Formats: sequence, C-alpha cells, structure tokens
Amino acid sequence: MQPFALIRPTTLLAARDRVHEHPRARLFRAGGVDLLDRMKEGLDAPAELIDLRTIADEKSLRGINPDPAGGCQLGALVTLAELAAAAELDAVLREAAGSAATPGIRNLATLGGNLLQRPRCWYYRNVDLVCLKKGGDACLAVTGENKYHAILGGGPSFIVHPSTLAAALLALDASVDIAGDTPRNIPLADLFVGPKQDPTREHSLGPGELLLRVVLPPAPPGRRSAYAVAKEKQSHDWPLVEAAVSLSLATGVMTQVRVVLGHVAPTPWRSREAEAVLENQAPSADLFRKAAAAALAPARPLRHNAYKLPLAQGLLREALHRAADLPLPE
Ligand SMILES: Cc1cc2nc3c(=O)[nH]c(=O)nc-3n(C[C@H](O)[C@H](O)[C@H](O)COP(=O)(O)OP(=O)(O)OC[C@H]3O[C@@H](n4cnc5c(N)ncnc54)[C@H](O)[C@@H]3O)c2cc1C
Ligand code: SF4
Repeated sequence: MQPFALIRPTTLLAARDRVHEHPRARLFRAGGVDLLDRMKEGLDAPAELIDLRTIADEKSLRGINPDPAGGCQLGALVTLAELAAAAELDAVLREAAGSAATPGIRNLATLGGNLLQRPRCWYYRNVDLVCLKKGGDACLAVTGENKYHAILGGGPSFIVHPSTLAAALLALDASVDIAGDTPRNIPLADLFVGPKQDPTREHSLGPGELLLRVVLPPAPPGRRSAYAVAKEKQSHDWPLVEAAVSLSLATGVMTQVRVVLGHVAPTPWRSREAEAVLENQAPSADLFRKAAAAALAPARPLRHNAYKLPLAQGLLREALHRAADLPLPE
C-alpha cells in the first residue's frame, strides 16, 4: 500500500472542498472497510484520506432520528451494528444489517460506505486485469468465471451490486440527502448507476459530493417486512442472493408491495413483475410461488450462475411467507 495522510476535518465544507479539488487523490473515509481493502489490493492509491467521522458541524451524518411525521432519518455514519440493533426500524432493514459480513465489520462499517462500496467481481479486484470497469474494452466475466455474477439486467458489465442495505432500503422506499454544490434529495434508486449507463461507476455522486443521510418515509398502516439471504459460508461470506420484501396487510389484502432482489443484478433489482402479481391480493403460498416465477422470468443466466434462479425464487418465497406471517409449505 502506498503511504497516505489521514486528514481529520471538523467541518463538512472543509471535507467536501478538499475532495472536490482533487477527487482522484483524495477520498472520503467512513468505516474504511472497503476503501482500505481497495488500497491494499492496489486498486486505489489516494494521497489523502478525508475522515468523515471527525466532522462535528453536520448533525445529519449521525444517529437514527425518527421524525414527527412518522418517518426516520438515518445518518450516513450510523454503523451496520447500530442499524441491526435499532428496534424502531423495520424488520427487513434490521435483518439485512445484522446478516452482513461479521460482527467486527458491522461495528466499523457505515450506512453510507455500505451503499457506496465498490463491487466484489474478482476481475475488477485483480489489479493486473483491465476489464470494462477499469476502462478496458471487455467484460472478462462473460467468458470467464461468472458464478457470482448478474442474472438480471446485466451487460455490458455483469457485476452484482454489493450492498446488502441497498435492497432492504429500496423495499422501504428510501431516499438520500446529498451534500454538494447542489444539495438535493433523490430516490435511493437514482443513486445507483447501471453498466448500460456507465460501466466504470456504480453511483451518481459527483466529485466532492457526500451522502449525508438516508430518509425513510412514514410506513403505511400495517406494514410488515422480511429479508432472506443465502451464502456459501453462513457466518461471514458475501451473499449469493438476497430477497427484501415489504407489504401492507392492513385490510387483509397486500398493498404497497415492494419486492427487491440483491446480488442478482448490477443495481439492487426491484421486481415490478412480482409486485404486480401480489398487489391487492390475499397472501397465499400459491400466489407467492407465482410472484417468484414472475420475478425471475426476465433472468438471463451466464454459464456458471443458473443456480441463482431457483435460489432467488426460494428466498423470495421465504421472505414473502415471513412478511405475511404465513407458514412456509414443506
Ligand atoms: C468478509 C467480508 C464480508 C462482507 N460481507 C458483506 C455483506 O454481506 N453485505 C454487504 O453489504 N457488505 C459486506 N461486506 C462489505 C462491507 O460491509 C463494506 O465494505 C462496508 O459496509 C463499507 O462501509 P465503510 O463505512 O467501511 O465504507 P468505506 O470503506 O469507508 O467507504 C466505501 C466507499 O464509499 C465512500 N464513502 C463512504 N462514506 C461516504 C459518504 N457518506 N459520502 C460519500 N462517499 C462515501 C468512500 O470514499 C469509499 O469509496 C463484507 C466485507 C468483508 C471484508
Ligand atoms: S463484471 Fe464488470 S467488473 Fe467484472 S469483469 Fe465484467 S466489466 Fe469487469
């Protein structure tokens, strides 16, 4: 790893200005879990890390703050461990945060850093290889080892989005507040950039822009939710596939249904097809099977990852059954 300076600004403006001037040589550091991995791997070699944790004049970076209207604001520096332990948050978010990585990582890793971490594709992570993501002219996963890659929405790059929190937050209709020359609030879905738009990046933040907080709108009456995940090694591995679901059951039929799959596509994958099957219907095992089939109907697996189709269907059914409190059939 190349030597670097750790800068500890105390104001938001100082942090932003520093990165804005030299966005390649100066990077924000939150928990540092992904960033330091990338530096050790030789993928990034910033001269300075700008520590976000010393910023003292911007309260919205910190805390889990319910708002009077019934929503909640989550500071970008809140850790995964804090989210997992926050009883006031929806189950889908607590379960997702509590399942990611290891207890040690969850104590360090932050909400903002989790959403903005870079993909795990091993061709990208190998400093000696130059694929589309690093400005090359081909996706090496297409003809190479693609067991962990996208089955939905892929091309020309086939990464899967690495953030576990992203799927859960999309299921809760989250938006994000961004600090920059043009401060703004955007739907979380608009934070993510797919490879058809630009294969070299995964988010839409400009140089020196900072994710301040995630905003959760008030929950509809009777909202229930669940998260399901499969990993090779349950204790500490990356997800193979994830399913995040929320729905309202106030009137006996499901409304405001959100179905999001993780680790199947370059961006967290909201399945409008599954939602259309479920909306305004009473929950049943048969309906959940149909919704899972509809969610995976557009899938186009690569050579080594067709296993993700039945896995995603099974996880989605599990999450729907748990959210609707309906026992899973044997
Ligand atoms: C063994 C292992 C297993 C893992 N399993 C999972 C898993 O199951 N699910 C999962 O989601 N992740 C998993 N991870 C990844 C880990 O959760 C992420 O690396 C971590 O969440 C990143 O958060 P951080 O705060 O450390 O980010 P950092 O490493 O500090 O930052 C990540 C990136 O975001 C930028 N950044 C950070 N905060 C902001 C901000 N507020 N505004 C603008 N830019 C910002 C940084 O400049 C950097 O480029 C795993 C990691 C390991 C090592
Ligand atoms: S999936 Fe993306 S990151 Fe991986 S080899 Fe292909 S272009 Fe590179």
